[in-house]
Amino acid sequence: MNTPNPEFFYPNRMGRILLLAMEEILGDAALTTVLNLAGEQRQFESLPPLTQALEFPFSTVSRLQFALEELYGPRGGRGLSLRIGRACFLGGLREFGTHLGVADAAFRLLPLQTKLKMGASAFSGLFNKISDQRVRLEETSSQILWHIERCPLCWERHAEAPVCHLAVGLLQESLYWVSGGKLFHVEEIACHARGDTDCAILIEKNPLGG
Ligand SMILES: [Zn+2]
Repeated sequence: MNTPNPEFFYPNRMGRILLLAMEEILGDAALTTVLNLAGEQRQFESLPPLTQALEFPFSTVSRLQFALEELYGPRGGRGLSLRIGRACFLGGLREFGTHLGVADAAFRLLPLQTKLKMGASAFSGLFNKISDQRVRLEETSSQILWHIERCPLCWERHAEAPVCHLAVGLLQESLYWVSGGKLFHVEEIACHARGDTDCAILIEKNPLGG
């Protein structure tokens, strides 16, 4: 595969969170296989440093997702990406929780719908502020649409169906955490890789089962 100069990046510390989450879910051996398949093994002989420098390319994020699908098939790859997304949220919370304001005791006491609104706003703001990923929120009375307008997960990919499963897992875990253990319907309903304008993740604001 040709590697044109990537134009957009995550900060190193987000790339580090992603690789640590992949290591946690896949284990060392499978992570090495995925890195090899993605053509990224030499670049990540050691983890990216804990810095804000924008040096982790979107093309790398996308290739790692694609390699998971190639190695485990679309279904297996999807399941792993969802789990890696959940692990990324927990890793991100350790890194960025204090910036987000969602780890405070006062936040935990707010009504659920207020927490969802404030959490989505803070979380999208973090991506917009420290990475080249762009997230725009759209809200109705019952749903939040998380639009990824510049998406690293499917960067330069073409696919028949949505492929940004990691974002779904990430949001599922964030909702679980913010709500104190509730489950929500979260689904990718549009994907740039499929020819849609942007990647859109639909979140139902009322938890499943009440
Ligand atoms: Zn995408």
